[in-house]
Amino acid sequence: MNLTVDKTLKWIIKANEKIQTNKTYLTSLDQAIGDGDHGINMARGFQEVVKKLSSSHYETVSDCFKDVAMTLMSKVGGASGPIFGTAFLKMSMAVKGKESISQAEFTRALDDAIKGIIHRGKASEGDKTLLDVWMPILRILQENDDVDWDVIDHSAKLAMEATKQRLAKKGRAAYLKERSIGHIDPGSASSYYLFQSLAEVITE
Ligand code: ADP
Ligand code: MG
Ligand code: MG
Repeated sequence: MNLTVDKTLKWIIKANEKIQTNKTYLTSLDQAIGDGDHGINMARGFQEVVKKLSSSHYETVSDCFKDVAMTLMSKVGGASGPIFGTAFLKMSMAVKGKESISQAEFTRALDDAIKGIIHRGKASEGDKTLLDVWMPILRILQENDDVDWDVIDHSAKLAMEATKQRLAKKGRAAYLKERSIGHIDPGSASSYYLFQSLAEVITE
């Protein structure tokens, strides 16, 4: 993996395309176990992120990540704005000043991002939140030096699907208790689009 500024921009643009395409689907997931705004939140946020990135010039991946973070935090209400925002802010700090990042650097950045998400939201793996996708991806990256990104794509999909059978312990879905079972976690679905987009950009 060699994640340059150019590839980072492509990653985020691709993620935005998937989120816009699946906006209604993401919202329907959140209608089932939340307040029905996840598609709207993510679509608005990533549209603004792409607008910001397209109108700026970047020397470093860290500056790109920082603008993603700041935009998501300021434009997205609800849980997902601060959570995705914190994740990108932590990643930005972890790769500060770097023009491109290796898999090892990305892995450390993802580790910091997850610590930030946990610090903010106090969720654990298995609580039916987006951590259920982020944490298995981190482990795969830690365990495979030169990872096959098709495996990342596939694993993220399986991890997202596995949230369906879980009982929500954090976020709005937790209020539903047993009734949260049987539905995919919305944030895990949008996280899948994020990692799938990265995998596609890295392997293209
Ligand atoms: P809101 O619930 O405020 O309406 P969204 O619908 O945009 O926000 O986002 C909901 C998603 O946020 C959930 O599907 C879940 O993945 C994630 N989430 C909620 N609470 C937490 C938490 N405490 N830690 C990590 N992720 C969380
Ligand atoms: Mg919601
Ligand atoms: Mg909401």
